[in-house]
Amino acid sequence: MKCTICKKPAVIKLRHANLKLCPEHLVARVEKVVAETIKKFHMFTPAEKILVAVSGGKDSLALWEILRKLGYRADGAYLDLGIEGYSARSREYSEKFAAARELKLHVVAVEEELGTGIDGLVRVARGKACSLCGTVKRYLLNHVAYEGGYHVLATGHNLDDEAATLLGNVIRWEEGYLARQYPVLPGEGKLVRRAKPLVFLSEREVAAYCVISGIQYIYEECPHAVGARSIALKHVLNKLEDRYPATKLTFLRGFLKVRDRFRPREPVELRDCPICGMPTAAEGPCRFCRLKERVSHGAPA
Ligand code: SF4
Ligand code: ZN
Ligand code: ZN
Repeated sequence: MKCTICKKPAVIKLRHANLKLCPEHLVARVEKVVAETIKKFHMFTPAEKILVAVSGGKDSLALWEILRKLGYRADGAYLDLGIEGYSARSREYSEKFAAARELKLHVVAVEEELGTGIDGLVRVARGKACSLCGTVKRYLLNHVAYEGGYHVLATGHNLDDEAATLLGNVIRWEEGYLARQYPVLPGEGKLVRRAKPLVFLSEREVAAYCVISGIQYIYEECPHAVGARSIALKHVLNKLEDRYPATKLTFLRGFLKVRDRFRPREPVELRDCPICGMPTAAEGPCRFCRLKERVSHGAPA
C-alpha cells in the first residue's frame, strides 16, 4: 500500500477520504483539517487564550498537541473525576504529557469541589453516572475557563463522537439539542465559548496521529462507559461505515447544512446561582450546587 501523495509506504487507509497515507502525510492531513475547521467556524484566533479539556485520552491530548503546533496559546484543564481504576491513570498520562512539553495544566479534583468523586456521587444521587458526570464536568470546566480568563474551552470530540450524538438526537427528534449541536457555541456572560476542532476527524485518524507523534494516552475506557447508549450508537454507525464509507462524514456535514431548520428551545433566561454565582436556568441554586448539597447531607437525590 502506497501513500496517495508521495508513494512512500502508507500506514493507514482512509476509505471515507479516499486516501492512503504515510506517517508524514497523515500528520499533515490531521493538522490541516483542524486548522481549516477552526477557521471555517470562527472558533478562535491566535490572539485568544484557549483552555483544552484534557482527559488523558487520545482525542484531548492530540488536540492539545495540534493547537500547540499550529501556534495557538493553549493551556489544559484536567478533572480528576474520582473514578476507581481509571482516574489515577488518566491523570498520570495528562500530567506526563504537559510536563514533557512544559505546558500549563490546571488539575481540579472533583472530590475537593463536590465533596465526593463521581463514584461517590453515583451512590448518593439517583441518575446515570454519565449524566451526573456530564453536569459536573460542564460546570467545573466552565468554571476553570471563566476564572482563568480563557476566551474559549476546546474539547476533543471527534467525528465518531459527533455522529453518534447526532444519531441519538435524531432518533429522539430532540429539536432543542439539534439546534444547539454545532462545532462552536458562543459564550454568554459567565458561560465561556466552546469549540470542537476535531469534529471532522475520525477516531482512527486521531489514534494514528497519536501513535505517529509519540503521544502516550490511556487506552482503557472509563468503567461507566460500559453499556452507555453512546457506545451502541457508535457501533451502529461503524457497521454502516464499513459498508458505506463516509457515512459519518456525510451524516454530519449534511446535518450542518440543514441545522438552521431546527428551532432552539424557548430562550431561557439565565440568572446567577445564589450559592456560587455561576449562570443557571433553574430557579434557586444551580444543578452543581444542588448536587453538592445532597452529597454533604449524604442523602439520596
Ligand atoms: Fe464520565 Fe460517563 Fe465519560 Fe465516565 S464514561 S468519564 S462517567 S461521562
Ligand atoms: Zn506520503
Ligand atoms: Zn451554583
